[in-house]
Amino acid sequence: MKSLWNDDEASLYQGELGQRVYSSRLLGREPTLVLHGGGNTSVKVTEKNLLGEEETLLYVKGSGADLEHIEASSFAPVRLHPLLKLAKLPTLSDPEMVNALRTHMTRADAPTPSVEAILHAILPYRFVDHTHADAVLAIMNSRDGEARIRDIYHDNVVIIPYVMPGFDLARAVAERFPAAAGPKTIGMILLHHGVFAFGNTARESYQRMIDLVTRAEDYLAKHNAWNISAPALTPGPVPLRRELAALRYQVSQTAGFPLILCAHTDSRSLAFTRREDLARLTQQGPATPDHAIRTKHLPLLGRDVAAYADAYRKYFEAYGAQAGEPKTMLDPAPRVLLDPQLGVCSLGRSAKEAAIVHDIYSHTMDIQLRAARLGGYQALSPKDIFAVEYWDLEQAKLKKSGKPPLFAGEVALVTGAASGIGKACVESLLARGAAVIGLDIDPAVAKLHHRPDFAGFVCDVTDEPRLIQAIEHGVRAFGGLDMLILNAGLFPPGTRIESLAMAEWHKVMRVNLDANLALLREAHALLKLAPHGGRVVVIGSKNVLAPGPGAAAYSASKAALQQLARVAALEWASDGIRLNTLHPDAVFDTGIWTEEVLSTRAAHYGLSIEQYKRKNLLKTEVTSRDVAELAAELCGPLFAKTTGAQIPVDGGNDRVI
Ligand code: ZN
Repeated sequence: MKSLWNDDEASLYQGELGQRVYSSRLLGREPTLVLHGGGNTSVKVTEKNLLGEEETLLYVKGSGADLEHIEASSFAPVRLHPLLKLAKLPTLSDPEMVNALRTHMTRADAPTPSVEAILHAILPYRFVDHTHADAVLAIMNSRDGEARIRDIYHDNVVIIPYVMPGFDLARAVAERFPAAAGPKTIGMILLHHGVFAFGNTARESYQRMIDLVTRAEDYLAKHNAWNISAPALTPGPVPLRRELAALRYQVSQTAGFPLILCAHTDSRSLAFTRREDLARLTQQGPATPDHAIRTKHLPLLGRDVAAYADAYRKYFEAYGAQAGEPKTMLDPAPRVLLDPQLGVCSLGRSAKEAAIVHDIYSHTMDIQLRAARLGGYQALSPKDIFAVEYWDLEQAKLKKSGKPPLFAGEVALVTGAASGIGKACVESLLARGAAVIGLDIDPAVAKLHHRPDFAGFVCDVTDEPRLIQAIEHGVRAFGGLDMLILNAGLFPPGTRIESLAMAEWHKVMRVNLDANLALLREAHALLKLAPHGGRVVVIGSKNVLAPGPGAAAYSASKAALQQLARVAALEWASDGIRLNTLHPDAVFDTGIWTEEVLSTRAAHYGLSIEQYKRKNLLKTEVTSRDVAELAAELCGPLFAKTTGAQIPVDGGNDRVI
């Protein structure tokens, strides 16, 4: 592993805490060392308090911070002395420990110190770095792992057998230190957990971490366990969307709430799921407690969700009873699913959560493959994994996390997503926690949002194969389809019937009508599998109810679309799918309405632009956002019992009323 230390860069960080920030970020930049808030670091600093007295503080990473982007303010300053006294207590419950950590801080607004703070405190070194390095995890979770670790590190590290993180681990380490450490000690290995490195300077501690991990990597290379690339497999062009949606439906039913399912069918994932030793490799458990919390104890092999849930209940009954305090069972649905056709699927309450699960499981796969080369993967016992999965502190976090957003775990597709009402719909749906698939002919859609819960596809909705392909990609990214917003439309320049060419008529019909038929037809099977029932919102037009001269093709296309939606509402009610229509009018904050067009139209009526925009009964301006917010709410529980409705969003129009 390459050291990223750079003296020039380091010199920009002032003081010991500054140096601590710098080298923590270096660790955070390497995903094979720490992932998504994993790992932690500290520094012991002597400072003068308000009274002018000197005291030694432990600046330790606050829980929840990510090393890669850590700031000085993300470190919690805790008085060292009381921590050293606490470490001598025979027992201390984890909630009591967290309380003690918080009450011994010198800054009231600092984050809660890492649960490993006492462990950092008792290590008699100024800088302490802790990671869950993949290479070391692969070795310690292999057959004869402990012997291999001793063989690699000799007297350079102190080895601690597995103890669950928290106070008990700090105690176990306190009992060994400093007696077990010698002049050559540069670090500590916690079996089935991770690596510590120490030093007198940030640089020394960081370099020692790199050194310890490099030795593990070299060992793996020497034992033919470093290069684990599999033969290339090209996934077939077979559509998977219905199978994925069916699976997501089952998993969501088992969980009791909708989940996002992200399928990875790349060569590496497929090769992994097709291994002969897959069950032996994957049905033991994660490589470190940090991973157990995110990915659950085991992945599901294949698609038998009911059998997985049964096994999970048994696991809970077997270990929950021994756990002392009563535990509330988490939902019995898997978070990782391995299937030879569907590849590696990750699941989460949001697309972000599913992405984190996938990142972590990706590293688990490498660890397991390398351990297999060393004679077999050997993980923590299910009892130990249970203790972490049902840790008081984790359960408390779950309770605190509050009510999920309205559309948590749900997926929406919006056409015409790059601008105007479509773009606003994307925002309204994202704001309510949905993952959104955006389609648009404008390439800007691909870069509309850089976040895990948005997938934009450039797509002409009249190109049926492209449309189907975009749905396929969207479902692979999020697992299904719950909501559909039919928004893409064409509003051609005014033409009277006597001069309306057939080509122009067909062009409008193709976009405003035909494309929506194709979309509805392709979406039906998916919407039927929506855990909370499918919902469709049609963006109609005032012209359906009150057509205007010069807009024959537009008005006819929107009226036909409306009729199509009404028939769909009749046909699909028994599948639990609701379809409702909004009829907006005079929404001017879209690309078509430039200032110039607006002023020409306003002048035509002898009005100012402001008056023209409010040319309705309520004298109010209707924005894209107004339409989008209502479209999103139409998909929500307020309208759970409404289908086939048509609602104007036009500020009141006497021709419509
Ligand atoms: Zn750890």
